[in-house]
Amino acid sequence: MTSGDSTHCPVCAGALGTQLLSSPDRLHGGPGSFSIARCGSCGVAVTLPPAISAAQLAAYYPNTYGAYSLPSGVLGLCSALIRSLQSWQALRTVPLGRLTEMPAGRLLDVGCGRGDLGAWFIQRGWKAVGVEPSSEACALARTRGIEVLIGTFADAEFEAGSFDVVVFRQSLEHVTDPIADLRRAHLALRDGGLLIISVPNFGCWQRRRFGGHWFHLDVPRHRFHFDGDALRRALERSGFTGIQTFTSSSTVGLAASIQYMLAGRCLFPGGLRLRIAAASCILTLPLTWAVARISQEGDVLHAVAHQGAIRPTETTPEGFTAVRRFPAETPSASSQAHTETALTPIAQLRQR
Ligand SMILES: [Zn+2]
Repeated sequence: MTSGDSTHCPVCAGALGTQLLSSPDRLHGGPGSFSIARCGSCGVAVTLPPAISAAQLAAYYPNTYGAYSLPSGVLGLCSALIRSLQSWQALRTVPLGRLTEMPAGRLLDVGCGRGDLGAWFIQRGWKAVGVEPSSEACALARTRGIEVLIGTFADAEFEAGSFDVVVFRQSLEHVTDPIADLRRAHLALRDGGLLIISVPNFGCWQRRRFGGHWFHLDVPRHRFHFDGDALRRALERSGFTGIQTFTSSSTVGLAASIQYMLAGRCLFPGGLRLRIAAASCILTLPLTWAVARISQEGDVLHAVAHQGAIRPTETTPEGFTAVRRFPAETPSASSQAHTETALTPIAQLRQR
């Protein structure tokens, strides 16, 4: 495989299959259409071309990108209220809820945006460090007490074993080399430290039903698309142990995907209209819950993994089971499902 190779998987060097689906940039309306192919070996789906420059990637993020700003005035008050509700809910459910059972330590948030996650844990006595390529978002995160390094994870240097927890919260799908970043996380974690990941679930029924209109596809910003098995293989390849995967349902996924299917693009790209639209997604929650319960899967995929040998008491924490998989679309053996329907969508947090 060579740099810029469009035929091989950047995760495992296996051969990429033919185009699985394609989509334009429905969220921000950028030019072009973007194809996605799945690796026949490790099962990850890749936005083509697999290798793009940092400058190309940066061009896909407008200044209005939700994770980079904090609104002011009345919108700011509404946004703060929404963030408070989101943190209240997120810290009471897996995977982040698990951290509230640990003594306060050092947390690294890779792709920290404006620092919502770090701010939650600073309030609980943690030391929060972030890595973020947006200078505007970095400036905001610093005002919230987070030590932020501007740039990508590859640009940052950390002492080995210096963190108790590393989090990729809706960020691993954005990076250009997920294996390299996972190995950096492994190096940054202390022995027995925890890695926590949340990404869109490419293996969910919404993606299969809506295809290129699936809200969480979000090309061209999302470069890699994981189902449970693909994420598990990437973590194993990066040296992690005690890997557990599970899913939850976002409030925004189903409603936004229906809107994409009917209108072809996001009709509410920002401002008050976006917030009203996001809030109105709660109307579809009963349907989302019902289908999630029937399908036993949600549109957000989570993983918890350990650096180093897993401790015996941590092998089967309550509430964790493997993610369901679909043999027709993924290459290896099946496992059971566990779905948690979350009132507050983790996938939505960075859009506000
Ligand atoms: Zn692969």
